[in-house]
Amino acid sequence: MFSQYNNFKAASIRLSHFFTMIALPDNIQLLPATLDFLSKEHRLFIGGAWVAPLNGKTLPVENPANGQLIAQIPLADARDVDAAVIAAQKAFDPDFSPSKRARLLWTLADLIRQHVQELAELETLDNGKPIDQAKADVLGAAQHFRYYAGWADKIEGHTIPVSAKNRLVYTRREPLGVVGLIVPWNFPLLMAAWKLAPALACGNSVILKPAEQTSLTALRLGELIAAAGFPPGMVNIVTGPGIPTGEAMTRHPGIAKIGFTGSTAVGKKIMEAAAQSNLKRVSLELGGKSPNIIFEDAPLEAVQRSLTWSSFYNSGQECTLGSRIYIHNTLFDQVVDGLAAAGQQLRLGNGLLNPDLGPLISQQQYRRVQGYIDQGLAEGATRILGERQDQVPEEGYFLPPTIFRHQNEELSIVQEEIFGPVVVVSAFEDPESIAARANHSAYGLAAAIWTKDISKAHRLAHQLQAGTVWINGYDMFDPAVPFGGYKESGIGREMGKSALDLYTQEKAIWVAL
Ligand code: NAP
Ligand code: MG
Repeated sequence: MFSQYNNFKAASIRLSHFFTMIALPDNIQLLPATLDFLSKEHRLFIGGAWVAPLNGKTLPVENPANGQLIAQIPLADARDVDAAVIAAQKAFDPDFSPSKRARLLWTLADLIRQHVQELAELETLDNGKPIDQAKADVLGAAQHFRYYAGWADKIEGHTIPVSAKNRLVYTRREPLGVVGLIVPWNFPLLMAAWKLAPALACGNSVILKPAEQTSLTALRLGELIAAAGFPPGMVNIVTGPGIPTGEAMTRHPGIAKIGFTGSTAVGKKIMEAAAQSNLKRVSLELGGKSPNIIFEDAPLEAVQRSLTWSSFYNSGQECTLGSRIYIHNTLFDQVVDGLAAAGQQLRLGNGLLNPDLGPLISQQQYRRVQGYIDQGLAEGATRILGERQDQVPEEGYFLPPTIFRHQNEELSIVQEEIFGPVVVVSAFEDPESIAARANHSAYGLAAAIWTKDISKAHRLAHQLQAGTVWINGYDMFDPAVPFGGYKESGIGREMGKSALDLYTQEKAIWVAL
């Protein structure tokens, strides 16, 4: 499918089991450190050591911008997961100094910041995303570790006045023990940080499984974790596919909790596995199909600036994106024309060239998204943008920004998470009906409201079934603000103080005085 090295120069490196050429766009160079890392024989990070998987199997790692094989990662099976659990149990120390935990997290944040370019290059090669966006992810990861470094020595219980006389009752927030963290491929390092930082701040030992498509930055992070001085086994990293690696974690009796981000379908399997094994805790950040609602009195300039990115950022591979756009009749043509014009101008390309959009993550995801586009056409939605292909590179898993217009909430492209650069737009007349339309979804991750009328904005914000509502903005995030889903978008709230609840359990202690 790929015309290898067409217009590309290549950096020759020796990968562990084979020689390969990393194909690079003209005038682009990778850091020596990036090439060094790629040339390593990658191993599992268990008990502070880098170990080969017991079955000796590996998985190929592909650059989605050109289909090139860039590395091999180990494929961990149930026995490796077992070894990781044993190492994590051994490392688990409920009395580990909170201030030392804070220092370790802060040191890790510093190390991440010192390696921004290298981590971003790895992320771009592995995931395809534009290099500046990869850098923003890396800095965001560092910010998360710093934020939770601040919490590590502030995880307090409280005392409770009870009715009976002569009683002292107090609570402690204790770590869970060994927790498993399973993350997706769309923001690989950042999603790992969202979970690692609070889990470690709370005093747990962890086993991280990155997505099989994007494990490189997690493995590099393992090296930084070792360099930061984390005790061996406090953080373990196993790579491999959902089955067997992820599933072995979800069924393991020695794992107390799974923190997961990914699809709703897999989230349900994780709950099932938790129920069938040791009733481990689960927190789930799942899919979304978020409504982006634009009223007739919306601040139009701000809408137009935001809409391109809230529709197509990360090539649509982001759970919170505003993939269902509702626009008041009076503005409909103007807003849609503006979005189509902006979408048409987005530059698609190899992430190392810092385009606006990179490729989709894999051929499988490409086919899945293309399947939805075909289905949208078959179901009778009108394609406003996406037909012209001249902005689409010849090789790699690229799809153009696509807009469908519809007036039928039941279409599969309106109800299902596509996870590609595809949005649906629909006009509305009656502002009172918009909450019902927005809430007509199995998902409830996020929503946005654009209006200058603050009463209308807050009234609707209260009615929307979504874990996050943005008013006159989109995709505003901060480590301090809780994030999570209503309905099938998930269970639990990550970030902020809320994430401490995900990685601790409360104990009540009674004393008869
Ligand atoms: P996914 O299967 O939910 O993957 C998320 C993570 O779960 C990956 O690390 C995956 O491993 C792992 N996993 C898969 N099956 C598992 C199992 N039975 N037990 C334990 N872990 C398991 O997501 P995907 O297949 O990559 O993408 C499918 C769709 O999910 C996308 O098209 C998109 O709609 C949605 N998605 C949503 C988000 C989000 O943030 N909401 C993120 C990614 C994808 P491997 O990938 O290594 O097999
Ligand atoms: Mg990859």
